[in-house]
Amino acid sequence: MLFSELGLGADVLRAVEEKGYTQPTPIQEKAIPWVLQGRDVLGCAQTGTGKTASFTLPMIDILATGRARARMPRSLILEPTRELAAQVAETFEVYGQYHKLSMALLIGGETFTEQVKRLDRGVDVLIATPGRLMDLFGRGNIMLNDIKVLVIDEADRMLDMGFIPDIEKIVATLPKMRQTLFFSATMPPEIRRLADAFLHNPKEVTVAPPASPAATVTQALVVVHEEDKREALRHLLRTEDVKNAFIFCNRKRDVAVVQKSLEKHGFNVGCLHGDMPQSKRTETLEAFKAGQISLLVCSDVAARGLDVQGLSHVFNFDVPIHADDYVHRIGRTGRAGRSGRAFSIASPYDGKAVAAITKLIQREIPLIAIDGLESPAFEEESEDGARRRGGARRRGRDEGGREPKAEGRSSGRRERSDRDRSERDRSERSERAERPAAADTAPAQAPRSEAPRNDRDRDRSRRRRDDDDDVVVVGFGDHMPAFMMRTGRRARPATPAPVDTATDSTQEG
Ligand code: AMP
Repeated sequence: MLFSELGLGADVLRAVEEKGYTQPTPIQEKAIPWVLQGRDVLGCAQTGTGKTASFTLPMIDILATGRARARMPRSLILEPTRELAAQVAETFEVYGQYHKLSMALLIGGETFTEQVKRLDRGVDVLIATPGRLMDLFGRGNIMLNDIKVLVIDEADRMLDMGFIPDIEKIVATLPKMRQTLFFSATMPPEIRRLADAFLHNPKEVTVAPPASPAATVTQALVVVHEEDKREALRHLLRTEDVKNAFIFCNRKRDVAVVQKSLEKHGFNVGCLHGDMPQSKRTETLEAFKAGQISLLVCSDVAARGLDVQGLSHVFNFDVPIHADDYVHRIGRTGRAGRSGRAFSIASPYDGKAVAAITKLIQREIPLIAIDGLESPAFEEESEDGARRRGGARRRGRDEGGREPKAEGRSSGRRERSDRDRSERDRSERSERAERPAAADTAPAQAPRSEAPRNDRDRDRSRRRRDDDDDVVVVGFGDHMPAFMMRTGRRARPATPAPVDTATDSTQEG
C-alpha cells in the first residue's frame, strides 16, 4: 500500500514524501484511515513501529481547518516523558511544515513563562507530560474544554509511572464529544479498563504481539560477578563494532557511576537520567544524535521510547527488574528494519529476572562468556529466602576453554559479591523505609493499594515517575482512579456510532 491511498491531504503527503517515506508501516496503514474518519482508536503498538506518525499525520489534516483560541488548545497529546513529548513535537514540525498549525510543548524542567505565552497565543496542538499540564491547569493558565482530539500515548508506561490519577483528572475536564486515540505497547487488564473508560466504540488495531523484540535485534547474555560488570561492559564495548549505544542502568545513581568509570577509561560517553536539569538532558541527547557522544548511559525513564536513527547497540549494564523494560530497552536498536545488537550483563543474583524475560519473549537469550572473566551460575533462592548455587545455567570459565581461576580468588569474589549484594539490599531497604506512604499502610480494600503479594507486585509498586527515577510510587495514594471503582461495563452513550462488527472492539464505552 502507498501513503497516497490512505486518504491523507496533499500537503501532508508532500511532507511524508520529503521525509523519504513511500509506504506506510502496518500501524499507519491500519490506524490512519480510522483516525481520518473521526473514530476512536485503541492501538496496541510499541515504539519503533511508526506509531507516532499514525496519529500525527491524520491529526494535521483534521486540525487543518479551524482556529485555536487563547488558552484553549484544540488537541492534546499526553506523553509519559519529556523526551518522548519533544520527539512527538519534532514529528509535528516535520509533517506539519506545509500547514500553519501552532504547537506548544509543556514539559517539566523548563520555565513556565514561555509555555504560558504560547498558550496565550492559542495552540492547535498541545503536547504535554501529565505533571506539567496539571500544574498549568491548576494555575488557570489553560482551559481544556475545546479539545477535539486527545491522544494518550504509551499508556502502559503511564500506568507504571503512576500517572493514571493525573490522567483521569485531565480527561474528566475534557469535552465528552471528542476523538480519543489511545496507544499502548501492552494491554494488561488495568489498561483495558482505562481504555474502556476513555474510548467510545474504538477501532482496535494491533501490529505486533505485545512484548516481542524486533527480529532484527541480535541478543546475548553475559553472567559475571557483580564487581566484574564494568570490566565486562568495557570488554564488550571494545570488541563489538559499536557506532553508538545506549547503556541502561536500573538506578539513576548507578548511571553517574558507570558514566564516570567509562570516561576514566577513555570512552566518549554522556548520561541521561531524571535528576538532570532539562536543558542538560536536551543538550546531551542532541549531542548524542549528532554523533558528538557515542555512548549514553541512561535510566529507563529518561530513555524510554527515544528514537535515535541507526543505534547500533544496546547494553543492559543491569538486567531490568521488569521483563517488559527489556523489550523496550532493546527496541531502541534494530529499528525500521535495520539490524542491531543487544547485550545484557547479569550478576549471579539476576536469575529470576532473566527467567522472567525469557518467559516474556518466549526464547532463551544466548549466553556468551567474556575472556578473562569468570562466568558464575545464577544463585537460586529457596523458600526460606536462602541462596544456593543454581545448576541449570552454570557456565564455568573452563567451559569456555580457559583456565579456571584459583579457588581462593573465586570464592573471595563470591564473598565480595555476597557482601555487595547484601549492602545493596540494605541500601534499598533503607531507601524504601525513608519513603512515605508505604504499601502496607494503604487501605486494605483498595485493589491497587494492597500490600504487594509477590515480587512482581512489589516491583510494580516501586515504579518511578518521570522526574525522579528512584521515587517509589505506591498504589494511587489518596486518589483511587474512578475506572477501578467501576464494577461493570459502562453504559453505551446514546449517540449512535457507525459499527463495524468485523474489527470493532468488543468493549463498550
Ligand atoms: P515511532 O514508532 O513512531 O517511534 O517510529 C519509529 C521510526 O520509524 C522513526 O524513526 C520514524 O521516523 C520511522 N518511520 C515512521 N514511519 C515510517 C515509514 N512509513 N517508513 C519508514 N520509517 C518510518
